Amino acid sequence: EKQSIFGKPESLNNFQNTTVLAIGSGKGGVGKSTVTANLAVTLSNMGYNVGLIDADILGYSIPQIMGIKEEKITVVDESIIIPISVEGVKVMSMGNLVGEDEALVWRGPVLSGVLNQFLTEVYWGDLDYLLLDLPPGTGDIPLSIMQEVKEAKFLIVTTPQVTAKGVAKRLGIMAKKTNTEILGVIENMSYFICDNCDEKHYIFGSGEGEALSKELEVDFLGEIPLLKEIRIGSDKGVLITKDLNSEIGQVYKQISEKII
Ligand code: ADP
Repeated sequence: EKQSIFGKPESLNNFQNTTVLAIGSGKGGVGKSTVTANLAVTLSNMGYNVGLIDADILGYSIPQIMGIKEEKITVVDESIIIPISVEGVKVMSMGNLVGEDEALVWRGPVLSGVLNQFLTEVYWGDLDYLLLDLPPGTGDIPLSIMQEVKEAKFLIVTTPQVTAKGVAKRLGIMAKKTNTEILGVIENMSYFICDNCDEKHYIFGSGEGEALSKELEVDFLGEIPLLKEIRIGSDKGVLITKDLNSEIGQVYKQISEKII
């Protein structure tokens, strides 16, 4: 029987009205963290209260992507941790836990223990959505979320490449085995539009994301283009979706509307 993260007696949060979205991928480099960060910003721009946990505890990249690498979390009343706010999103990442506070507050480098602390010892306030950026693959963290957090709904990010789809499918199968809801598949880096024409170039192949969603019998949530601006954005820590009305903002909005 899966446990509820809601109402844990030791928790600062009750997450009564919070939808937990766990974003996973088969392998690394498919843009899962970039997609998670931009989905969070888009949901926030749409008026929701959004939190984001970088559950890729060892391989964190959210601080870089969201431009908060230099920021430190604050601790009030000696033990209550306040997440960092960026573009309206509350963010918690191991990448921001450096310096003195680390030894005091973050005992035990046991990954699921750290994740549990992110859920219970960070003061999130009222959240509509809590996004978890998972490490790639079918390792400990995705498995323990599937087994232990009954509210978690999964989103699977893949690229159109056959190799990416194959490993992403294994994550989907694992979710099914643990009776975890999969909201759908998002295909990232789907196509490229060059500067000189309006044609969509399907560099990595096409249709694999949709094929994966069919095989897993879940929704296909949309295609995100391969854009130089997205890569530059995450290198600079600037979120490309901060303008909801931009072209890419609208792509993310359409995906978000299928999730909410
Ligand atoms: P993952 O979390 O799956 O390991 P990242 O989100 O770190 O992947 O993305 C890997 C790299 O690909 C980053 O440099 C990122 O900027 C880039 N990237 C991700 N999505 C896109 C996209 N749609 N267009 C262009 N570059 C992208």
